Amino acid sequence: MSDNNQHHHHHHSSALHVNAGVPQPEQISKSSIERFKHAGRKLLTAQEYADGILAGNRILLSQAITLVESARQQHHALAQDIISRCLPHAGKSVRIGITGVPGVGKSTFIEALGTHLTALGHQLAVLAIDPSSTRTKGSILGDKTRMESLSVDKNAFIRPSPSSGSLGGVARKTRESIILCEAAGFDVIFVETVGVGQSETAVHGMVDFFLLLMLAGAGDELQGIKRGIMEMADAICINKADGDNQQAAQRARVEYQNALHLFPQAPSGWTPPVQTCSARAQTGISQVWETVQEYLTKTRQNGFFEEKRQQQKNLTLHEAIDEILQSDFYNDIKIKTALPQMQQAVRQDEMSAYVAARHLVDMYDQQHAGNNRP
Ligand code: GDP
Repeated sequence: MSDNNQHHHHHHSSALHVNAGVPQPEQISKSSIERFKHAGRKLLTAQEYADGILAGNRILLSQAITLVESARQQHHALAQDIISRCLPHAGKSVRIGITGVPGVGKSTFIEALGTHLTALGHQLAVLAIDPSSTRTKGSILGDKTRMESLSVDKNAFIRPSPSSGSLGGVARKTRESIILCEAAGFDVIFVETVGVGQSETAVHGMVDFFLLLMLAGAGDELQGIKRGIMEMADAICINKADGDNQQAAQRARVEYQNALHLFPQAPSGWTPPVQTCSARAQTGISQVWETVQEYLTKTRQNGFFEEKRQQQKNLTLHEAIDEILQSDFYNDIKIKTALPQMQQAVRQDEMSAYVAARHLVDMYDQQHAGNNRP
């Protein structure tokens, strides 16, 4: 991978000091900030991070995730080294995706199910994938009232979503964070996403079980839930089944159950159930966990669980190839000068977009050894 001088331009991208609790004075010059940062960086070796993570050290886990999220080449390389060391110890958790439109009660639900799980003795990590977040300061911890009990629960680890980046980039960071959390001993991982966009497909591609939260009394269109998202769900839970809303929730449950029956049988051999719950009143929560247990039992027995994980790894490999090829291409010095010219030619209809793209890729290929293009 090319070192594209990124580290000269992204002073602000390192959040390591923030996590370490080091204040960042604003009234000093840029160069002294840079010196200050270098003095305070204290990057450890990959082995030290990995040892700390494997020993369950939360601070080193947080710092390693920050390295995973960093745009700096140096951090990226270190992060990959840490991940490689953690990988043999990862994979042993249950990974659960939780989605639903804003306001459906995701954070309240995660708080309720999460505290239920930590009370059962589980170690829970909560991650978020929310690249288009409109919430301030990147999702989960943006609103301080969210997950009050979980955020002080010593058996839980809550990590806000990476605050910037393309969906592909955010998805990779979340996958890598899952590996680090698993190596740190977390046996249940939640990945939260807002159920309105593309991110559901990305989350579905990294979890074992995909839970869709919905509301009664609002049509699918109103909730912005696409049919495709319902099709990905391993269970649907109608939240806010409390007070006056209980009967409506039961009706919605039957409706959704009927709707799901029309979908083709899933390759898992699993029929997604529709349940009701109240995250606020904490009813129906343990039943959701029982459903997850049943799913795991069934899919571990029929081999689907392992098969899905293997497929996901394969998908991740291909996404990584795409990401590396793209970034190498766009960071190539010749491409950087040729691309604007091609853009101009395409804009003026002197060249078709395809021909221009082919030309650029050939130009890129010619510069690289081992060009095997026939
Ligand atoms: P998110 O945007 O999906 O994370 O939703 P929140 O967890 O922030 O919840 C949105 C609103 O719905 C908040 O005011 C919650 O208090 C409320 N809420 C969440 N769960 C329930 C529930 O089970 N019953 C009721 N009545 N309200 C709930």
